[in-house]
Amino acid sequence: MDVVVDHRQGDAHRQDGHSGERNCGIADEACVIISVAGAFRKGKSFLLNCFLEYLYNLQKSQQADVPMEWLMDDCQLHGFHWRSGTKRDTIGIWMWGEPIMIESASGENIAMDTQGTFDNNSTYQQCMTIFALSTLISSCQIYNLVDNIQEDNLQHLSLFVEYGRMALRDVGDFGKPFQTLCFCVRDFKSPEEYDYGQFGGKRYLDSVLEIRDDQPEELRSVREHLMECFNDIICFLMPHPGHRVAERQSFRGHAKDMRPVFREEVRRIVPAMCDPENLKPKSVNGKTLTCRKMIQYIKEYVAHFDGNTMPEPLNILNANAKLLCMEAAHDAKIAYCKGMDRSTQHPRHMSEKRLLEAHIKHGIIALNIYDKCPKLGATEIRPKMLERLQEDINAELERYKRLNEAKRVTGCASAMTACGDSVLL
Ligand code: GDP
Ligand code: MG
Repeated sequence: MDVVVDHRQGDAHRQDGHSGERNCGIADEACVIISVAGAFRKGKSFLLNCFLEYLYNLQKSQQADVPMEWLMDDCQLHGFHWRSGTKRDTIGIWMWGEPIMIESASGENIAMDTQGTFDNNSTYQQCMTIFALSTLISSCQIYNLVDNIQEDNLQHLSLFVEYGRMALRDVGDFGKPFQTLCFCVRDFKSPEEYDYGQFGGKRYLDSVLEIRDDQPEELRSVREHLMECFNDIICFLMPHPGHRVAERQSFRGHAKDMRPVFREEVRRIVPAMCDPENLKPKSVNGKTLTCRKMIQYIKEYVAHFDGNTMPEPLNILNANAKLLCMEAAHDAKIAYCKGMDRSTQHPRHMSEKRLLEAHIKHGIIALNIYDKCPKLGATEIRPKMLERLQEDINAELERYKRLNEAKRVTGCASAMTACGDSVLL
């Protein structure tokens, strides 16, 4: 499975007058990833472009400290390629070519990428794989549907339900495995029954997720366990965008061509996820991911999704467990090195005994840090990573020993110089 990052897309946006600076030095920033998944030709790319319009304008307003304006009459949407007609356009997963730096309410910078997904014509297997992978990668998965939420739409979520069950069985105390799932129902046709937007969406979703005795066991099970997997499950009901958007080949993304009631709802759904107050960085098992870690996660997931077979929930769990252990081992090693740096900072050579005492002290601290990583997934993962950590720490100890020895030599040399000097004097 390939995840495509199209850098030309980012460039194209910048040529349209948007700033794309501050793209470096983001490795340690928290990141928010919004994904839109669902069947093809249902306005996913179009919706993502509304997100881009919002985010770039938000960035501009934050940088220039001016009020925010977006989706105005003169706005023309750019970004992910979209097209009218019946042929599919996007294949696989596309990720926006540059992070968009937004200052969140808490003051931290958040790098944001958006991603378009799940275009049909492919096998059920491929669609499910794309859906699963994009849900794993994103902090908010928007499930784009038309008319209503059907049983098979919910069935697509059964993998996550199974995953959630396993994760909860292993460790029930460090948060739900996934973050926000947002059902976005396009061209909703019963606004008299349920209002457009999030509040009508909530009532509608409650009615869809209602558990009844007459439902087959598997349908009940998906409903019962869905809430265990996702922190938030929300729903937006969107009106039809108007014939200019939906039917005209000549539509070029001008906001003024959208039906006003549709434009109003777009103005609500996008900030509901991207307003600085509402930004939720990607976290895995309760830990916020930095952009650097996100890359590791994507690589690890992609290795498990080879496109032909659907990953078992257990494999996803194991992939997560391995990453969490790797992270804990990395933090542990850093703590060890920092402690050893402090203990050995004196320019004078120290005795081997004192060096080993420092090693034991900081080694124990490091092992305690590692031990805190959740006991998740297959049992062999933790000891394997622990072994690697011990090897790493031993290698570091050898380095500290060499540095210490070097001090003895240079110490002698400078003592000799001092002697020489005094002789000369
Ligand atoms: P994707 O294949 O899901 O990414 O769909 P696109 O974003 O490429 O859009 C496909 C077509 O649907 C384009 O002509 C859009 O202008 C149109 N479209 C966008 N949003 C909506 C919507 O909410 N309802 C309808 N009926 N059409 C839409
Ligand atoms: Mg598309």
